[in-house]
Amino acid sequence: MKIVKFGDPILRTKGKRIETITPEVKQLAAEMLETMKQANGIGLAAQQIGKALQLCVVDLSMVEDGELAGRLWIDGALVDLKTHMPLTLINPELTPVGKLRETALEGCLSFPEIFGDVSRVAHVKVAAKDLEGNPVAFEADGLLARAIQHEHDHLHGILFIDRMNAATKASLASACKKLKKQTESEGRSMDC
Ligand code: ZN
Repeated sequence: MKIVKFGDPILRTKGKRIETITPEVKQLAAEMLETMKQANGIGLAAQQIGKALQLCVVDLSMVEDGELAGRLWIDGALVDLKTHMPLTLINPELTPVGKLRETALEGCLSFPEIFGDVSRVAHVKVAAKDLEGNPVAFEADGLLARAIQHEHDHLHGILFIDRMNAATKASLASACKKLKKQTESEGRSMDC
């Protein structure tokens, strides 16, 4: 599937909650996993493939550095992160754990070649549904916590540039403007 780029209004659209997990939702999730893999991404939200739904996927199994990848707790017990990848999250809700924040360089598949520092909560609690409709609850830190916050933002029409400080945002402004223009011109040509 084609990944939607910055400038497309769908990226600013809040996703609708998924009440019933239909075969179409399962198919969409499978296609999102494949698209993310093809693009070498660690996360993808439904908005990025043109659907405003509360559905995202995250996969950190390719991250070699375990310390960087972060930790995953289920029912309070630390579990092996890699065996739980990829994650498909439906209607995810996040709660920060503690006040610690971390700043790190982030990218986004909807912003090719654009990277900037983003400050995020270091440790989050996640409540969501899986593809079987079962409730899932876990805690994450490290890159996993960051990736989930980035995807959760997408589901609410929030982009990583919104989370950057003024100086970082200013340094990326012309690149973002160029990308937006390009996306908009592609949109127009598609309408013809
Ligand atoms: Zn993104």
